[in-house]
Amino acid sequence: MAKPILLSVDDDADVLRAIERDLRSQYGADYRVLGSSSPEGALDLLKQLNLRSDNVALLLADQRMPRIDGVHFLQEAMRIYPDAKRALLTAYADTTAAIGAINQASIHYFFMKPWDPPAEHLYPQLDDLLEDWQASHHPAYSGIRVLGTRWSPRSYELRDFLARNHVPYQWIDAEISATDAETKLLLESLGPDATSLPIVLFPDGTKLLETTPAQVADKVGLRTRAQTSFYDLAIIGGGPAGLAAAVYGASEGLHTVMVEREAPGGQAGMSSRIENYLGFPAGLSGGDLARRAVVQAQRFGVEIIAAEASGIRTEGPYRILKLADGSEFSCHALMIATGVQWRRLDAPGIDRLQGAGVYYGGGTTEAISCAGENVYVVGGANSAGQAAMNFAKYAEKVVILVRGSSLSSTMSQYLIDQIKETPKISVWAHASVSEVHGETHIEEISVLCTDTGKIERVPASAVFIFIGALPQTDWLAGVVERDERGFLLTGPDLFADGQRPKGWTLERDPYLLETNVPGIFAVGDVRHGSVKRVASGVGEGSVAVQFIHQYLSKVQ
Ligand SMILES: Cc1cc2nc3c(=O)[nH]c(=O)nc-3n(C[C@H](O)[C@H](O)[C@H](O)COP(=O)(O)OP(=O)(O)OC[C@H]3O[C@@H](n4cnc5c(N)ncnc54)[C@H](O)[C@@H]3O)c2cc1C
Repeated sequence: MAKPILLSVDDDADVLRAIERDLRSQYGADYRVLGSSSPEGALDLLKQLNLRSDNVALLLADQRMPRIDGVHFLQEAMRIYPDAKRALLTAYADTTAAIGAINQASIHYFFMKPWDPPAEHLYPQLDDLLEDWQASHHPAYSGIRVLGTRWSPRSYELRDFLARNHVPYQWIDAEISATDAETKLLLESLGPDATSLPIVLFPDGTKLLETTPAQVADKVGLRTRAQTSFYDLAIIGGGPAGLAAAVYGASEGLHTVMVEREAPGGQAGMSSRIENYLGFPAGLSGGDLARRAVVQAQRFGVEIIAAEASGIRTEGPYRILKLADGSEFSCHALMIATGVQWRRLDAPGIDRLQGAGVYYGGGTTEAISCAGENVYVVGGANSAGQAAMNFAKYAEKVVILVRGSSLSSTMSQYLIDQIKETPKISVWAHASVSEVHGETHIEEISVLCTDTGKIERVPASAVFIFIGALPQTDWLAGVVERDERGFLLTGPDLFADGQRPKGWTLERDPYLLETNVPGIFAVGDVRHGSVKRVASGVGEGSVAVQFIHQYLSKVQ
């Protein structure tokens, strides 16, 4: 952590030099000593230091300065650093004024000029002040800070991105500046930039305005481009299937890259508690599973790129992968593990308020913000049940909206039992969202009761939608064979009337998890006929690596 700061302010250059010299020689090992020749400059400096979350331990100001005297400077500075110790430098003639300032303006001490010898007239008193400061001081948060508004979709996207990529950050809601002095000050310190939300402030003092996950990824060192032009194995998608393939591939000596457009963990990363994954009797959160798997993959040397794959093609034995930024690299074997994405709910207001109270999927980042509020969960499958259990830890009331008459045909019994035992959760059967209402964020929803045909309008702080998922594989059309819903065909599913897929020229049949293009494999939820579970994705990802070895042993 950076050293705390001792700041002295004096318009007399000789005095400023002398005080800086004495402070540095006595305290330089533990504190950073800064000086300013004007109170205005010092106030600007304090604002910048505050933006960088630096700690200021001592403010030492000469009383006689033009425009702003020492007492007024210290009072202003107190707004920015209320915990810093404040001391005046005074001439003998100002002693009475200085004593008055101690009483009226919360100044901790005054020193007479000259202070020679400092060992007698400066250091003992400063030692006391600094010891006091150390004892009562709480260090400022020194990591990444995200400043935005709760209902802004762009702020939500950023927070979700950072949380799912396990980048620690502090969230600051700019809307509380009216009541929160610290936030108000932070916005003031930003000056005109304060309107360019969302803003990300980094500990090195830099900031990104109106920023996007891609810019932040670059800044925090998440790779967005391939480091080399060729790999043995390239994996698209960093869910359980892709991560398992990465760990097995790299641990078995393949030079492996994994491309993930949102955050490693995939859908599993959105799960608040996976209860049925082997070896974790108490369950584990999807975030934890993803974090462990990423560390494991990195330990084996997997390169992870935060980017979207947008096209593939073949050139002889090479498989070329194109990323959304236009860059390309090649590989011998390619694995598609892109999973499925949430189906959209079609109702007026949904698209407009997405990210402003309407969320697809887990919304784990949003759960805490729902404290004391009414939230609605749409869907009757396990994912909806898990989310409801998670929101019930924070929200006042959680209502699950299901089209059918109950959860029994769509949700696992263990979750139904947990829901029954949670008084905050209720299930509204025969119900579907027909409209969401609100200007800047969701305020109410209309629910169509399908058994009576009536529409009820109820207040809602958030709606989380879990209504099934489909693969997004249009970008693979024309290269990889898909079923009518976009799932990828592999192995035996490629045979029509006993015939191998069109264009297949090898003497062998496609391997179990291989697509119609030799060397391109598909695993996990994106695969036609897959079992949509974490364990089966992990299984497929690791098994496919065996076929890749066989494929690579023959590739020219
Ligand atoms: C809320 C929730 C709770 C769940 N709970 C359980 C549970 O308790 N037990 C259980 O067994 N299963 C559970 N599941 C199901 C399980 O999470 C999935 O079956 C599993 O995650 C599928 O893994 P996958 O790797 O095939 O795909 P996914 O997990 O979907 O991962 C695919 C990844 O590919 C990325 N991607 C997609 N397209 C591209 C592209 N073009 N470029 C780069 N990257 C791309 C996506 O961003 C995503 O990260 C749950 C699912 C959800 C949503």
